[in-house]
Amino acid sequence: MGEYAARFDARRLGADDAARAVKDAAAIEKMAAAVKSLAAARVAETNVWKREGDLSAAHHLARLTGTPVGPARDALESARRLRELPAVEAAARRGELSAHQVAVITDAATADPHAEQRLLEQAARGSYGELRDECARTKANVMDLEERRRRIHRQRYLRSWNDVEGAALLQMRDNPEVIAGVMAAIEPVRDELLALARNQGRAERLEAHAADALAELARRAGPTGGAAKRSRRAKILVRVDLPALLRGFPTSDETCEIAGYGPIAVSAIRHLLDTEDPFLAAVVTKGRDVAGVAHLGRRPNARQLSALEWLYPTCAVEGCNSLTYLEVDHREDWSQTHMTLLELCDRYCRHHHDLKTRDNWALVEGTGKRAFVPPGDPRHPRNTHGPPLAA
Ligand SMILES: [Zn+2]
Repeated sequence: MGEYAARFDARRLGADDAARAVKDAAAIEKMAAAVKSLAAARVAETNVWKREGDLSAAHHLARLTGTPVGPARDALESARRLRELPAVEAAARRGELSAHQVAVITDAATADPHAEQRLLEQAARGSYGELRDECARTKANVMDLEERRRRIHRQRYLRSWNDVEGAALLQMRDNPEVIAGVMAAIEPVRDELLALARNQGRAERLEAHAADALAELARRAGPTGGAAKRSRRAKILVRVDLPALLRGFPTSDETCEIAGYGPIAVSAIRHLLDTEDPFLAAVVTKGRDVAGVAHLGRRPNARQLSALEWLYPTCAVEGCNSLTYLEVDHREDWSQTHMTLLELCDRYCRHHHDLKTRDNWALVEGTGKRAFVPPGDPRHPRNTHGPPLAA
């Protein structure tokens, strides 16, 4: 590997070969990470690190690998768990999992050993972001969410400090429903500022506008700002399975969460519902099913829109984690059907919506997150049997 790396010249590779080299090198990196992890766990059991004068096994690993102590401690923890999870360990040895993937899977599968296989499948299929969300959900469903909610509430804080560059930072830690409420208040102001910047030809990151929006909100709420210019809030979308709502806690693979903010306690949902906030949408489901109601308009009605937001909290394309500016798309042309049927709508991010309308890409048949294929692909709906409506 050392010799190959020394002689390696990326400029002499064609596009396909370069992509292949990225894939192969990533697999080597992952296999090496598995070996490193297992070896580090072994070192932690011995007293090599004591002999070499380190404060702890984590300090020893940090020094050996040139990483901070915090991540080294986490790496040792996930290495220790890896040995208890044979299927995850085998996948890691085959170079199928990155160190990040191993960390979130071992964390969740230790809490719920039945989830091991399901999480491995998720890792192979989707993006890291999707895997992380699924792991958080898995872990949440086997812990006492009410106790967690009380604990997080007791430990809540808002802190500010300065970093080495002299920038000031703000950090808030609280329950997801609280942070979701804050972000929902910021969002419309952020979008105002984004539109303003676009008009002026300024291109800046979304999170930069979000920072401006928080500062702007603080100004508007101040003694000189007054309540007159109060802006509209964005919607908070709560997703909960009916049995979980009735029972008071979710089990196995049930859902109880704020879209985009992760699992929350059932009591937090009841609390949100009690506020009768007009910008709250609660979608109650049974398993994966949302009652599909057809209506005779071109646009989905509010209820269908909420259901679509539940079905597609992110872009419908498998592997795409995009949350912002999702567009509802009719799979069948409205001029043919003259109705909006929930089952025939998908939500796309801008990029994938463009690929569909401009280059005729399509989602394979079905609902929910699924594969997205070019027109020549045999799984493209046009190349399979009749249209979904006829089916
Ligand atoms: Zn997308």
